[in-house]
Amino acid sequence: MSRIELNSAVTLREPAELVAHGLAPAADLSDLEKVAARYAVAVTPDIAALIDRNDPDDPIARQFVPSAQELVAGPGENADPIGDHAHSPVAGIVHRYSDRVLFKLVHVCAVYCRFCFRREMVGPGKATALSPAAYDAAIGYIRAHPEVWEVILTGGDPLMLSPRRLTEVMADLAAIDHVKIIRIHTRVPVADPARISSEMIAALKVEGATTWIALHANHARELTGKARAACAAIVDAGIPMVSQSVLLRGVNDDAAALEALMRAFVECRIKPYYLHHGDLAPGTAHLRTTIERGQELMRALRGRVSGLCQPDYVLDIPGGHGKAPVGPNYLSRENSPDANSSSPASSCSQQREQHAETRYRILDYCGEVHLYPPER
Ligand code: SF4
Repeated sequence: MSRIELNSAVTLREPAELVAHGLAPAADLSDLEKVAARYAVAVTPDIAALIDRNDPDDPIARQFVPSAQELVAGPGENADPIGDHAHSPVAGIVHRYSDRVLFKLVHVCAVYCRFCFRREMVGPGKATALSPAAYDAAIGYIRAHPEVWEVILTGGDPLMLSPRRLTEVMADLAAIDHVKIIRIHTRVPVADPARISSEMIAALKVEGATTWIALHANHARELTGKARAACAAIVDAGIPMVSQSVLLRGVNDDAAALEALMRAFVECRIKPYYLHHGDLAPGTAHLRTTIERGQELMRALRGRVSGLCQPDYVLDIPGGHGKAPVGPNYLSRENSPDANSSSPASSCSQQREQHAETRYRILDYCGEVHLYPPER
């Protein structure tokens, strides 16, 4: 093995570099090389600086440092876990819902998340980069579909584009009359906040369409001072932000961690939007938890933070059937005799049945049941 230069200012992409920087044990090197041969690896200097090398369960490391467990296929996992392919009319476009499309512009990211649902499609060397002709065809598809009100730039991470190229893309989209919203999903403000330059912010704003930014972060520690400043620059420029997070075992699957994350978003003027249940991406079972645990955590969150801090807990149904909210249900119905009925009381069971009405059982944030009167 050639000697690895220790340079904390570059993105680490090789398992040997992770070992040399104390981010992975040397004993795992051979397994990690097998993982890296299949799935891209990148740990930016900002993310590497956040990792506690003395904590074998560090929640930041779990998200970005590869693990030999990624070589194990879990039940139901597949290369296209949310069924993008089934809804892709042209390269780069996913048109699952009528009024919006995903536009997968780039296939690279600042960091590669170990649980990524597009892990078979993102990273250097993947065959998903859009050629100029494919880009034109994708823009042509959006132009030809007047029902498309919102274009969601995703990938890969769209903020890996240069400000100059992003300006061109935003102008191409905003020139389409029916495109009113351009939403950009990104991890860059936390993974590489220096990319959020004044040029990048200028590129995000475009005449003729409204830009929204969805920030992907999963642990409050990701919202460092630099990340917060990058988000503040975006919001100060008049660009609203929402969050998206993935529920991950050992990262945010406890109420305190989730609470801290949601509070951090709101402090940054980022409205919590989605908490995704982990998708069935290959080799990610060790990072998923159960839907029951997710519901339990959402119940706990309801009792700990205001509505401002509540995301929607959602699952992308495998096979391309879209998102479904899977959070806890607080309301149930029961048929019961109407105790407040204005009809004369009767001991006759037949009459009591006639007066039976649906009333509601509602759970409060402490888990206690309350009855709500029937509707008239
Ligand atoms: S930034 Fe998004 S697309 Fe890129 S690896 Fe992470 S989850 Fe996947």
